[in-house]
Amino acid sequence: MMAARRLTTMFAALALISVIGCAPSEGAVAPASRASDGGSATSPGQAGSASPGSRLDRSDTTGAPGIGDPAFPLDGNGGYDVGHYTLKLSYDPASKLLAGSAAIQAKAVQNLSRFDLDLHGFTVSRVTVGGSEAGFAREGDELVVTAPKMIAKDAPFTVTVDYSGVPDPVRNSSNLGTYGFIPTTDGAFVTSEPNGAKTWFPSNDHPADKATYDFEITVPEGVTAIANGEQAAPPKTSGGRTTFVWREKHPMASYLATMTTGKFDVRTGTSPGGIPVYAATDPKYRDALDLLYTKSAEITDYWTTVFGPYPFSSTGGVIDDFNAGYALENQTKPIYGGFAPDSGIIAHELAHQWFGDSLTIKRWQDLWLNEGFATYAEWLWSEHTGGATAEQMFRTAYADKNNTMWTYPPGKPQPGDLFNDAVYTRGALALHALRQKIGDTAFFDLIKKWAATYKYGNVTTDEFVAMAEQTSGKELRPLFDAWLFQPTRPALN
Ligand SMILES: [Zn+2]
Repeated sequence: MMAARRLTTMFAALALISVIGCAPSEGAVAPASRASDGGSATSPGQAGSASPGSRLDRSDTTGAPGIGDPAFPLDGNGGYDVGHYTLKLSYDPASKLLAGSAAIQAKAVQNLSRFDLDLHGFTVSRVTVGGSEAGFAREGDELVVTAPKMIAKDAPFTVTVDYSGVPDPVRNSSNLGTYGFIPTTDGAFVTSEPNGAKTWFPSNDHPADKATYDFEITVPEGVTAIANGEQAAPPKTSGGRTTFVWREKHPMASYLATMTTGKFDVRTGTSPGGIPVYAATDPKYRDALDLLYTKSAEITDYWTTVFGPYPFSSTGGVIDDFNAGYALENQTKPIYGGFAPDSGIIAHELAHQWFGDSLTIKRWQDLWLNEGFATYAEWLWSEHTGGATAEQMFRTAYADKNNTMWTYPPGKPQPGDLFNDAVYTRGALALHALRQKIGDTAFFDLIKKWAATYKYGNVTTDEFVAMAEQTSGKELRPLFDAWLFQPTRPALN
């Protein structure tokens, strides 16, 4: 993610939008409604006729309503682990109606009689578990599913959800303005960090539960639908509608999934290093298509020499005309919202393919592992292309004594201000301070080893610090403590 305030094309005002509560605290769950039994599901959206306390009354076979992230207590869910999503969706830009079916293959991690999915808005018409009708109810952004029979711990199961409605993106968030599924005049701009996947499909909407994805997206003829990974079949048109089939075969966090749609010019090919490339631009940015394609290819190739092998099967980028004022590192296809990116921004988003997408944080508080690395990558790209060196960038940023980042410890960001500049710049400074301390050889060995060891997995700050100490043979906790966890400007060694 590169947010508004970091783009020169942006208005700083976006960053100052007042705080809307992000996630209710655990005690603040809305009065529970009854999850109905068997096929007699309460009518969708009207499940609020409360028999009090299904939350208070949970048994030990009820999956938790949150996955356990202290900063976002209701994000994700407990009780199961998703392996694969199959999303068959149709979208009509004229009516803004999204309709379809999600099949979610998961494994129970406890005995499970009832569990939640995250879903915001929509009318749910049917839920099945293992092919049998399941009961369901809505409680805020939780879709509570009652299994037709107990699912045993460790058993695989498939839950399907049929749903439709006009998507309602997250608006005016203190973090990022608007995100999730955002209807545009010719389609939709879909960027879901941190928890906007629930605005377009039922999911375990937290980066701690990664899964693979199949997308089958039907749109009016003439509209292009762009999702993650690669096209598994050529688009098929019949009756004035075209279906695009995309597959992301590598594990992906829900916030990195996309189904961006609209009028697009597309260029495909292969990078000089042999990586397939898909670049697309809204007609308004047609002039930027070749540069987007060429730079995305060149930079992906370059990062393989710095970070190690590219973790996915294709790279690229999308420029849409929705004026989001940010870019997001959607897996295999970073998206740029309402601007043609310069190569520094492309370098940032493509560095995320390693740091954020392949290696994904387990909790949002470790976001500096994404943004500090991607910001540091901008500095490395600048140095590589003859601009300011990383050392010069470090000195300039460090010299700015009155910068507010010194009072904001990036290792413990506030949930309402997750994307604070400190997480980016101080995160990058922490990495450069580490590089100064352990030397270039150990530093770049560490970065490659970090990317290889945790490829496709989840990571924490503690794991990075441990690997840095082990790789360098140096005691590094005081350094990380000063740069990441203290509300003061660290002394230089
Ligand atoms: Zn970023």
